[in-house]
Amino acid sequence: MPLLGAYGSSIYWHETAPHDPRPALAERLDVDVAIVGGGYTGLWTAYHLQDAEPRLRIAIVEGQEIGFGASGRNGGFAMTLLDMSLAHLRRNHGDERARAAHLAVTRSVEEIGATIERHGIDCEWVRGGLMVVAANRPQLERVDADLAAAEALGLGGFRRLSAQEAQAEVHSPTYVGALHEEHCGVLHPAKLARGLARIVEQRGAQIFEGTPMTALEPGGDAVRVRTPGGELAAQQVVLATSAWAAQAPEFRRRITPLYTYVALTEPLTDEQWASVGWERRQGIEDKRNFVHYYRRTDDGRILWGGSDGVVYPGARIRPRHDRSASVLRRLAATFRETFPQLERVRFTHHWGGPVGITATFLPIFGTSPSDPRVHYGLAYNGHGVAPTHTGGKVLRDKALGLGVTEHTSLCFVDAREPRFPPEPLRSAGAELTRRVMLRQDAGFARGRGSGEMDPWLLRAVNRLG
Ligand SMILES: Cc1cc2nc3c(=O)[nH]c(=O)nc-3n(C[C@H](O)[C@H](O)[C@H](O)COP(=O)(O)OP(=O)(O)OC[C@H]3O[C@@H](n4cnc5c(N)ncnc54)[C@H](O)[C@@H]3O)c2cc1C
Repeated sequence: MPLLGAYGSSIYWHETAPHDPRPALAERLDVDVAIVGGGYTGLWTAYHLQDAEPRLRIAIVEGQEIGFGASGRNGGFAMTLLDMSLAHLRRNHGDERARAAHLAVTRSVEEIGATIERHGIDCEWVRGGLMVVAANRPQLERVDADLAAAEALGLGGFRRLSAQEAQAEVHSPTYVGALHEEHCGVLHPAKLARGLARIVEQRGAQIFEGTPMTALEPGGDAVRVRTPGGELAAQQVVLATSAWAAQAPEFRRRITPLYTYVALTEPLTDEQWASVGWERRQGIEDKRNFVHYYRRTDDGRILWGGSDGVVYPGARIRPRHDRSASVLRRLAATFRETFPQLERVRFTHHWGGPVGITATFLPIFGTSPSDPRVHYGLAYNGHGVAPTHTGGKVLRDKALGLGVTEHTSLCFVDAREPRFPPEPLRSAGAELTRRVMLRQDAGFARGRGSGEMDPWLLRAVNRLG
């Protein structure tokens, strides 16, 4: 049977969030803040700026369409995860800074829900929490390490579940334990992006789609954002292009674009849902290096993602990479292992997209060393739905020139992060890293190893310059 049933494949979120693109920029425009990139980072930055200074002249230029990037394709988990894990965040940044960063993103999860409600954004928001499941002993060690980190940091909202409790929530025979975290919701990602774009536009921002920035030129009176049909002359510029930033020389060795993929099932019947449970509609992740993440959709499907990640030769971003037959096969196999009772359920859609990966596993936020009017917030390592909201506050404070604030002092802002080696070493190193991580995941499945990061990988990360 073909893996993709009879429906063919497209990005389901785009299909179910119809969009009439706005015209491209075709003039020279003076603005207070120019934002490059129409994903969540750009949109939340505009939103927070409007809250702070309603009269600011803000323009967003998006190379394709609002939500074209990861923001319109993701799994839709708005969760507190910022680093690879809470335990990793604490180990690398210490208690005080880890706690501040975690709480900032926790607040964002709640504020995203509140903003959706306040503006009536119809994006299928369900605040069902997150269940981080372990499918073997090493993964369970990771679950326990996160719980220990949460307790050491004095964080609320975490609850350890036994194998029986986890399986009672969602009926998979593979669960050997889990951690439930209260602060998480799932949503329709493209509807959030497009709904948010409408709100910032109604509040006065101008949005130009089909408008790629082709050059950024500092001038005496303004920074110029050049595009094919016009230009923005801006007092402040915010770069919010995530994985695409890796194509610019300044970020080439700081960000690697990695493709992550999902598959979507047909709607399940009532009988099939009864065999799975999952009534709270929580988001679910496991504790592999290449996690599986999965959730219910409003129309009764399961979105099943992760399992593998691909850095293509030259770390390129290309439309043909939006699908991967080999990753789809792996996704289908791990889905059936997790839910053997759904063996006959078909997949109708499959897609992926690039996320920005950094050597520290944290996003990078800063201000250009060559022009203090240019700020950036990029590369959330595959989990930016809620952190982009926090990042928007960082970029707001930077664009308003507020100096040291609660947000600009978060551990990922203005940090000195290690560099990746130049190409072709960067892609070759990424491929080697991927194999090491997959090998460790396979070892876990056979009950081998500890939940610690693979020692080879740890040494490699520590060696980056
Ligand atoms: C398949 C998948 C599943 C994911 N699942 C989750 C999840 O469940 N939870 C979670 O927290 N995170 C998830 N993520 C990650 C999350 O979606 C991202 O971290 C987040 O959307 C990043 O938002 P952004 O605005 O920074 O970047 P993006 O949404 O990627 O936006 C960048 C935008 O910049 C535009 N652009 C690029 N170059 C230019 C230019 N020169 N000029 C103008 N515009 C330009 C692009 O077209 C793009 O629209 C997932 C990602 C993918 C791909």
